[in-house]
Amino acid sequence: MSHSYLMPTYARQPISFVRGQGSWLYTADNTAYLDALTGIAVCGLGHCHPNITAAIQEQAATLVHTSNLFGIDWQEHAGEALCMAAGMDSVFFANSGAEANEAALKLARLYAHRKGLKRPKVIVMERSFHGRTLLTVSATANPKAREGFFTLDDDFIRVPFGDIDALKQAANGHDDISAVFLEPIQGEGGLNTAANGFTFLEEVAALCDANDWLFMLDEVQTGNGRTGNYFAYQHSSAKPDVLTTAKGLGNGFPVGACLVSGRAKDLFSAGSHGSTYGGTPLASRVVHSVYEVLTDSNVMSNAVTEGDFIRESLTSALGAKGVSSRGHGMMIGIVLPEGTDCSQLVDIARDEHKLIINITGSHVIRLLPPLNMRREESEQVVERLINTINSANIL
Ligand SMILES: *Cc1c(COP(=O)(O)O)cnc(C)c1O
Repeated sequence: MSHSYLMPTYARQPISFVRGQGSWLYTADNTAYLDALTGIAVCGLGHCHPNITAAIQEQAATLVHTSNLFGIDWQEHAGEALCMAAGMDSVFFANSGAEANEAALKLARLYAHRKGLKRPKVIVMERSFHGRTLLTVSATANPKAREGFFTLDDDFIRVPFGDIDALKQAANGHDDISAVFLEPIQGEGGLNTAANGFTFLEEVAALCDANDWLFMLDEVQTGNGRTGNYFAYQHSSAKPDVLTTAKGLGNGFPVGACLVSGRAKDLFSAGSHGSTYGGTPLASRVVHSVYEVLTDSNVMSNAVTEGDFIRESLTSALGAKGVSSRGHGMMIGIVLPEGTDCSQLVDIARDEHKLIINITGSHVIRLLPPLNMRREESEQVVERLINTINSANIL
């Protein structure tokens, strides 16, 4: 492309797609690419799922936006559905993951205010990612995302992910902590799972209970069936006070949500938070349709079977060369030996094997395929990825 009028905020790959269907993306010359990334964990039901397309088309022709000055029936339906699925009491609809997290962090501040804390702090994790607004990027670990923005570092305490003792220790000597905020599995930061799995969430929840802190989960990436449960925390017995989600929530339609229960109930009141667009009739109808597909079908159990199949196939083919796997359901990390040069993998996969993948950390291949991927397609993901690694000649 010649001159671009877009701000250079992205290192874009030299390709663009004009059409998508299910697990496949197509370029203008109709070349098919197998999509094991789904727009970064967004199109969990595949591209242009017929039910979602129909919902968008019908609602676009009926009513798109009225604002939250008025009742919005679809927002009520979507809110009820989402609270049922999440086991939470009520929801605020936003338009993105960062906005949902901004709402969560504002709730933590309100909670602190109610308790009379002077300079409240939220405990967050190393290698976390929570978004790009000033408050959410301050909660984010990645130095590249933070650099130059005078992040609000006094408002956060950072501890290693998965280390409950470190968390307890960091809290020692602070009487102004209001909340702990973390991802059940860290997506952007390297597809990291805690060593003791989801038990870590139970340990954090217990610590929050003991100290009267808000237990807040960022399920922007792990939510909406991605790990095989509607929300990843449901693999544990922990119960969050605040839960955020976005990405898979609209299958590509931009929408986010911040849900509350327990200690975070009743913090927001009329006028204390808002959004012009949040939960439009169109966005809410899409959320409701995604909920229906997720709950009326075997999509989430398919995410488990196919995710396990992809992980097991790749580790049995490459395990002898030091490759291991992690993650749950269709949130898949294929871990290459430390120090492996992964710089060419994305390009080789795309150009030579027509497979869309992502690298996270320095040596983890991140796969986020559609939850409803068919077995033949999962086999293709495995085959194309093995071919990619072989042509890159890096193991
Ligand atoms: C993607 C992501 C966000 C940010 O969502 P946006 O919609 O890009 O603002 C926040 N938290 C997690 C865990 C994410 O994966």
